[in-house]
Formats: sequence, structure tokens, C-alpha cells
Amino acid sequence: MKKDVLRAQFEKHGFSVSFFDSGKEAARYLAENIQGTSVAIGGSVTVQEMGLFPLLKEHNEVFWHWDVPGRETLKKARTAKIYVTGANAVSETGEIVNIDGTGNRTSQMLYGPEKLYVLVGSNKICPDLESAVWRARNVAAPKNAARLGVKTPCVAAGRCLDCDSPERICHSMVITARPGNGMQAELVFIGEELGY
Ligand code: SF4
Repeated sequence: MKKDVLRAQFEKHGFSVSFFDSGKEAARYLAENIQGTSVAIGGSVTVQEMGLFPLLKEHNEVFWHWDVPGRETLKKARTAKIYVTGANAVSETGEIVNIDGTGNRTSQMLYGPEKLYVLVGSNKICPDLESAVWRARNVAAPKNAARLGVKTPCVAAGRCLDCDSPERICHSMVITARPGNGMQAELVFIGEELGY
């Protein structure tokens, strides 16, 4: 991981950054720094693999639709002061790329919470924006489609075919180049592979 490059590029774009060797260490840091507030979590295999949800729940009100499924949880999540999500890809030039079906994750990365935390395993880092968009489309989305058990062509092909399937999971793709006005945003880089 090119820590100096990532720090320089993301700080230049107005993000703060932190680095950890493992998901466990990053989860401890987040649990120590997020206390006594409301937190929403986007759908994230990274969060799941880090075991973050139970730690955050000890000292916060946490809304996660992977814990309590349904639109009511998504609605409550929109009121949370803190938003935690994974990235589908980030670029060494300082951008975050996320694809979403419902739009809860992509929209809250743009506006709503006071602070956004984006968790980034080492497998998500790409040299530039073009390769980050390619990764989000051709690596993260097909793997998510397979996890969700939908019948989209990417599941068999292992790459995106820009389908018109009724079960298509890719409805929005957001490139976050800088935090929204008035929002703080931190990239939490983790030196191991996490999520898709
Ligand atoms: S657009 Fe369709 S084929 Fe492409 S990754 Fe999304 S679901 Fe798969």
C-alpha cells in the first residue's frame, strides 16, 4: 500500500485518512472514536468481516439493514449522525467509487451524516480513477451479484455485461471526489484484503 501517495492525494481532496494493519485494529479504532451517537452502516462485507457492528452497538444507536432488514431501518439510517461503509474501489489519485442498487449507500455518502467513514481493504486500491471504476463494475459488482444470488449474466461471466436484467444490482455509481460541503469524511485504510 502506497501510504504516502494515498495520504497526500486524499488529504489534498479534503478527506482525512488513517491506516491500520488489520481489520481488527481498525474496528477497535472506530469503536473507540464513535461513542454516544447514532450510526448507520451501509451494506458492507468489509464491515461484516471486521466484526464492527457488535462493537459499535455497545456504545451507540446503530441502524444496519443487514441486522434488521427492511425499509424502516433504511429510513432510520438516514437520520444517523455517522455513516460507515466500505468502498467498491478507491484510486491512488484520491477518488472513491461505489455502485448501489437501492441507493441508500451512495446517497448517504454524498449528503446527510455529519461524518462519513469509508473502510478500504488493500484489495480495493487501484492506480487511477479509470481502473477504480473498472474494478467496481467488473470485480465488486459481479461478486456482490453472486452473493445476493441474483440471475444476472455477470455471475457466470465474472465481469459486467451492462445487463438489462430485472435483477440488475447496479442502479447508481457514485464517484466521491471530495467530501460534500459541511461533511467530514475519513478513509480508513486496512492492510489486508476485505470485502469485494
Ligand atoms: S450491470 Fe448487470 S451484468 Fe453488470 S455487474 Fe451489474 S448486475 Fe452484473
